[in-house]
Amino acid sequence: MSEEKKVAIKKIQATGQMRKIMADYFYELDAAARDGSQKVAWCTSVGPAELLLSLGFKVYYPENHGAMLGATRLSNDYIPVANAIGYSPDICSYLTSDIGAFIKKETPLSKAYEGIEGVPKPDVLVFNTNQCRDVQDWLSWYSRELNVPLMGISTFRNIGEITDDVLEGIVHQIKALIPPLEKISGNKFDIDKFRESMALSRSCTELWKKVLETNAASPAPMSFFDATIHMGPAVVLRGSETAVQYYELLLAELEQRVKEGVGAVEGEKYRLYWEGMPIWGKLRDLSEFFIGLKTAVIASTYCNSWIFAAFDPADPFLSMARAYTEIFIVRDERFKEKYIEEMIRKFKLDGILFHDSKTCPNNSNNRYGMPERLEKRLNIPTLTINGDLNDLRCYSEEQAKTNIEAFIEQLEAK
Ligand code: SF4
Repeated sequence: MSEEKKVAIKKIQATGQMRKIMADYFYELDAAARDGSQKVAWCTSVGPAELLLSLGFKVYYPENHGAMLGATRLSNDYIPVANAIGYSPDICSYLTSDIGAFIKKETPLSKAYEGIEGVPKPDVLVFNTNQCRDVQDWLSWYSRELNVPLMGISTFRNIGEITDDVLEGIVHQIKALIPPLEKISGNKFDIDKFRESMALSRSCTELWKKVLETNAASPAPMSFFDATIHMGPAVVLRGSETAVQYYELLLAELEQRVKEGVGAVEGEKYRLYWEGMPIWGKLRDLSEFFIGLKTAVIASTYCNSWIFAAFDPADPFLSMARAYTEIFIVRDERFKEKYIEEMIRKFKLDGILFHDSKTCPNNSNNRYGMPERLEKRLNIPTLTINGDLNDLRCYSEEQAKTNIEAFIEQLEAK
């Protein structure tokens, strides 16, 4: 591996505002959980958040907490704690980090936000297995531990076409959640409130899509590593006016960058797709590394996962079922390959980087021959690096960087 040059990541000005709204979000959650002014629902990241919001819940996302544990590099302190109670080191390291941290009564929220002592205590736990089974097992642990009701939606996986039959089943499951949620929240379901939160999520999603699509420009104004941070509000604040306003601000800044020809990577030479989970504890390091290689990682499946194009307030149940079922992770290989092909065209990409994330097979799409098929069919180079979302023991920095450098040399030769 050659010696790395010192490089600086260009600061996105909207970051200050993002930090503020994320802090407000956590303080409000903390207050609601402490004084009981609003019930708290824990929801998986692609769960029925808009329904929960419409019923008056404050919504907390354990996966966001998992990502915080990864980004602060605390995960490896906590994973063994969950392993010790029988949760394998091979399963989702969000799950093991988060449960381990809970057992140790620690959270990065306390360090980041003065006065917050722990994660907000849930009144209900709601999952959707659209992304994986781990989310259900994860929330089941809390359900047993805290004696809190658990409910959710079971979604088919690995599907191509999304048929009416599939959607009908999901609509039925979403509707079945309403009576128990009304009981817990103490609020009556109101279709207009549901439509309202769907409309806000729709606006958020449209703006987030536009934000990501500014990267079709050359040079691209934002890196994948920036985007993983700036997607925070799209995950935890979707369904709110705050998220909409935030993405208006971010979009304006990125459009200005495009107008002025300002790229996230000075002298951008190559443009890559990141397929798979981020390596949370290495975001800054990898961001700087790619800047040094004049390579812009600018599009990804991961950040696109919070684009829910189907949301339609006029038909909230069916459109929610569709939006949360048609996401990439639910789909079969054929769909995924077509999707990536479209990304390559739209973002004018030179190569694809697959992250084989040890503890998340669901987001590791290199395992059934996809890189080889795409290389052959689209004549695009691919590279697979081994690592993990949170468990840094699975990531060999030296090996990954050597392979990335060799890959860039291969692009140069091409
Ligand atoms: S999709 Fe992967 S990272 Fe996300 S919760 Fe499931 S196993 Fe964990």
